[in-house]
Formats: sequence, structure tokens, C-alpha cells
Amino acid sequence: MVNDIQNKIIIVGGGLIGELLHMMLKSKGFEINHFTKDSNVKNRTFALSPSSVDWLRSLGLPSIFFESLSEIKSMKIFDSSIKNSVTLNADDAQKPALAYMANEKDFDEAIKNTFNNKKNFKKLPTDFEIQKKQDQAILKLPNEEHIASIIIACDGANSKVREKIAIDLRRHNFNQTALSFELKVNTEIQKQAFQFFLKESILAVLPIRQGLVSIVWSCNSNFFTKLNGLDDKSIENELSQIIGNYYKDIKITSKKESFPLFMNSVESIFKDRVLLVGDSAHFIHPMAGQGLNLGIRDIIFLEKIIDRKNYLDIGLRGFLRKYERARKEDVSQMGFLTLGLNWIFSKKSSIVTRCDRKGYGRAR
Ligand SMILES: Cc1cc2nc3c(=O)[nH]c(=O)nc-3n(C[C@H](O)[C@H](O)[C@H](O)COP(=O)(O)OP(=O)(O)OC[C@H]3O[C@@H](n4cnc5c(N)ncnc54)[C@H](O)[C@@H]3O)c2cc1C
Repeated sequence: MVNDIQNKIIIVGGGLIGELLHMMLKSKGFEINHFTKDSNVKNRTFALSPSSVDWLRSLGLPSIFFESLSEIKSMKIFDSSIKNSVTLNADDAQKPALAYMANEKDFDEAIKNTFNNKKNFKKLPTDFEIQKKQDQAILKLPNEEHIASIIIACDGANSKVREKIAIDLRRHNFNQTALSFELKVNTEIQKQAFQFFLKESILAVLPIRQGLVSIVWSCNSNFFTKLNGLDDKSIENELSQIIGNYYKDIKITSKKESFPLFMNSVESIFKDRVLLVGDSAHFIHPMAGQGLNLGIRDIIFLEKIIDRKNYLDIGLRGFLRKYERARKEDVSQMGFLTLGLNWIFSKKSSIVTRCDRKGYGRAR
């Protein structure tokens, strides 16, 4: 018999992962108390994997959101000479698309819609404390306290919750910064993404819709300092030298945002009655466009274990150990993949060149 507290969950963090987790847990009948810092929705664009999109459909996001997604059917990957390329195709992988591009604002609108346009998230003060009693997790605020069976932290890569409960963290600094913005382009190319593994940077060009692409440019420190000192026109000129064969008349149309790049691995994804989900549990290089997908898979696995219905209290160690075991391989594989790819390309390996000479994945 589930008691009142066992049905209560506190979520900290109102990014996409916190919001999607809230929706999933609410659909299972849990009572959610949700806290966040700010509710500024950015204008980021994410590449979602087909399996993430399938799960979002099952979660019941409105159809207008799925209509707003744009498909990526192929991705052309270049080495630093910009002459040799390998093309990955959705058809070869027998998938309808390699990925779907989603805008954060459309995402947020769709989620808000399912919350009846009212999110009811509370603002978390900076001086909160977390305590644990035998069968309760307690979020202590200056003038009140909230009790639940578990606190789930979705408060991002620099998680304060993780810091407060002292979960050890290893951070690998890539000494790179990602510059991200939108670019208006004149081109016939649609549904194709590009990735350039250059000497001083990795440039990803992802189609948003006809005439608009998203740029994620992961730059080594010196190159970033140089780019950051340039005006938009000069950055457009730099870009034209790389993507000029594919896109003409390019123009930066959004604010440029920058993100320092590192990889976080945590010693454990839970401690006592506190669980880390999304970027608070793992933060990876954005080159593979997988961070959000990894967080969505956290929620999918949590849902699977909840659906088995053989637990009494999701805050208990037994439940959380099952979840941790289920997530371990996927999370560490994705970390190794991005770490490895970054290492290979930062050593200026000619791997793409060699693949091309052998005739694998010839440019189409
Ligand atoms: C340049 C770039 C491009 C990317 N592209 C892709 C992509 O194409 N595909 C993909 O899958 N992933 C991509 N990612 C990764 C993706 O952005 C993240 O994995 C994802 O946004 C993580 O979501 P989250 O909700 O876990 O964390 P966040 O988005 O960081 O949200 C954290 C939330 O917690 C709140 N918060 C923070 N501190 C506190 C506090 N003390 N108290 C209360 N609330 C707090 C914040 O206000 C925020 O609402 C990219 C990342 C970068 C940097």
C-alpha cells in the first residue's frame, strides 16, 4: 500500500528534461512539486533521435509539435581538407530519418500546452538544503520545508543539488567553446546535415527549414578567441570558406551563444533519496548532438522500471540501483564515443581520408 509521501516527488530544474520528467511521472499518478531557477526559454535547436521522437509521441505532446520538426535524411562528414567526405544515410540505416530538428520554443510551447498553459513551477532560493530521514527526502527552504519520497535533480551540468549532496564528479575539459547561432542561407539542399572536422574546430551545419540552418561550431580556445573578436560579416566570410560550395548568401540571423565544453562523469547517479537525471548526471560534448537524447533515455528507462510495478517506494536504494544499472552502459558509451571522436580528430587523424580511399561511405 503506497502511503502519501511515497507518492510525492520533488523535481529541481525546469529545463526540457525536468519538464518531460514531470509529464511522465504525472502520467503515472505521482504528485509533483517542481522547483526551478528561471523560466527563460532559449532559442536553441536540437537534433532529436527517431527513438526520442517516438517516445515524445507516446507522452502525448500535441501534433503541432511533430509537424514543426524537420527531418535530417543524411549527414556528410568532412575531414580537415574539406575534400574527403563520408555520407551517412537514413536509408542505409533503414530509418525514416537520421534525426529530427526541434526548436526549443516549439518544444516549450508543446509542453506548456499539456500543462494547460500553466506550469506551476516554484522558484528555488539559492540557500536551500537537502536532508534525508529514513523514508523521506526533505527540501528545506528558509521559511518552509517540502517532503517527498525522492528529490530528482534536473538542474543541469553545474547542478547545485549534486553539489549539496556531495556526489563526486570528474570533469574533462575539452578546452573548447561551442558557438551556436542560426544562419540564413540560399540553397537547394534540404534534409542534409554537414559536419566538418577541421584543424581548430568542429563545425556542424544542421537544416532547420528551407533557407535556415543551425550552426554549432566547437572551437579550440585560440580559434574561439579569434572568432569571438570578429563581427558577423567576418564570421560569415570565415564560414563561406568552409561551406561555400553548398550554401550561398549566408547571413547570421540570431544572437550568438557560447558554451564552454567539458565532459562530466559522476561517481554515482544517486545518493540517499536524491537522483540525478539529464545533464546533472552526465554532460557530454555536443558534437554528436546526443545530450538531450541521453536525458530523454534516462526518463524512458525510469518509466520502464516504474511500469514493472514491482516496487513500493521509488526513493529506496533497490529501485535506484536498478535504474542506475540500466543506464550505466548507454551513458558511458556515449561519453567514450564523444571523447574518442574528439581525440581522433584533435590528433588530426586522416581517418575520414582513409575511409574514403577504401571506398566506404563515398560522398553522394
Ligand atoms: C551547443 C550545444 C548544442 C547541443 N545540441 C544538442 C542536440 O542537437 N541534440 C541533443 O540531444 N543535445 C544537444 N545538446 C545538449 C542539450 O542541450 C542538453 O543535454 C540538454 O539541454 C539538457 O537538458 P537539462 O534539462 O538536463 O539541463 P538544462 O537545459 O541545463 O536545464 C537545467 C534547468 O535547471 C535550472 N537550474 C539550474 N540551477 C538551478 C538551481 N540551483 N535551482 C533550481 N533550478 C536550477 C535551470 O534554470 C534550467 O531550467 C547541445 C548542447 C550544447 C551546449
